[in-house]
Amino acid sequence: MADTLWAGLDQLTDRLADIYRDLHQHPELSLQEHSTAKLVADFLRPLGFEVTEKVGGTGVVGVLRRGTGPVVMLRADLDALPVEEKTGLSYASTVRATDADGQEVPVMHACGHDMHTTCLLGAATLLAQDPSTWSGTLLVVFQPAEELACGARDMVDDGLFQRFPKPDIVLGQHVGPLPAGIIAYAAGPMMASMDTAKVVLRGRGGHGSLPESTVDPVLMAAHVVTRLQGIVSREIAASENAVVTVGRLQAGTKDNIIPDTAELGISVRSFSETTRDTVRQAIERVVHGEAQASSAPRPPQVEWTGAAPAVVNTPDATEATVAAFAEHFGEQHLVKQAPVPASEDVGVFGQACGAPTVFWFFGGVETQAFTSTDEGNGFRNVTTNHSPYFAPVIEPTLTTGVQALVVAARRWLGTRTDDLDQP
Ligand code: ZN
Ligand code: ZN
Repeated sequence: MADTLWAGLDQLTDRLADIYRDLHQHPELSLQEHSTAKLVADFLRPLGFEVTEKVGGTGVVGVLRRGTGPVVMLRADLDALPVEEKTGLSYASTVRATDADGQEVPVMHACGHDMHTTCLLGAATLLAQDPSTWSGTLLVVFQPAEELACGARDMVDDGLFQRFPKPDIVLGQHVGPLPAGIIAYAAGPMMASMDTAKVVLRGRGGHGSLPESTVDPVLMAAHVVTRLQGIVSREIAASENAVVTVGRLQAGTKDNIIPDTAELGISVRSFSETTRDTVRQAIERVVHGEAQASSAPRPPQVEWTGAAPAVVNTPDATEATVAAFAEHFGEQHLVKQAPVPASEDVGVFGQACGAPTVFWFFGGVETQAFTSTDEGNGFRNVTTNHSPYFAPVIEPTLTTGVQALVVAARRWLGTRTDDLDQP
């Protein structure tokens, strides 16, 4: 790869670090990423990208055409979380915003999407400033609402792959609790699929002293919760992985009132479509079965409120991309990653356009933070994404993230063979 391409990075890092700190200090909730989207659009236009805003809500798409060749999509996400930042950083967020339920909440980039956005702006700059080394079309996609697992779907449904060039490959990355400078990859399943359900169990309320005149939704909910835990242990083979978590269980207002309804919020993780279907169907069966067993006066309501497919990297495309990483960064900066139960909606893009997907993690933690006790012990001493203390070190995280996107894009873009050598 031409050295001229990297020459621009030194001049860029200070500006990118400023953008990162600015984004970190001014996070926006999912579906409210208006200022972030504007910053991205304003940054891309002078680089020569055809920029379209408001794709699938607050999404931004940039297209840079350099003759014939493959269409390469680079993806970043824009949104932050309702978390109160406790990092104590000089650029910590103090932002509060009103969420979709009308509640005022603190807002923080606790998942590092500010880092993803900044890295993609950096990669877009380097690739735009050095057009002579590649040919094809670069498609940069900044999606909203990753944390709600709906932003990628919203962009696809808004015609992402009809209105813009259809990618031959989808590339993306996530910062996480690995040593900064390290890239972790998996040539196959990498992140779990996620489904969320809202369940409303309907009983018949009444006086707490006269249960015989009621149908108690609290007892019904208790049976549902217990029974749901039998799905993974009794219906899923030991060779498969799945998680069923009831993270929310709400009923009643007072000790001597039997309420009318009880509500459950359920999160499901799995790594294959078959397991996912089995778990989803089992949840519906259990909920309806327990309602019937309690002689509920009305059937329960099961609403699937969010879904993200598993992130399954295309094996050969991943091997090819990782080979390019190894050449650029050196093997010592690469680690194989076992599948993680966290989820991401990046898989929606590859599914929708039929292109291979390569998604990797890059580290954001100072190497000194990893003590010997971390070995074989998960990351118990390291702050993870979604924590109020999550704060990637800016360098070498930022530079690594920019370079990874550029190296991956260059692996798949074409090479100019026309008269570059002519005087
Ligand atoms: Zn997250
Ligand atoms: Zn994230």
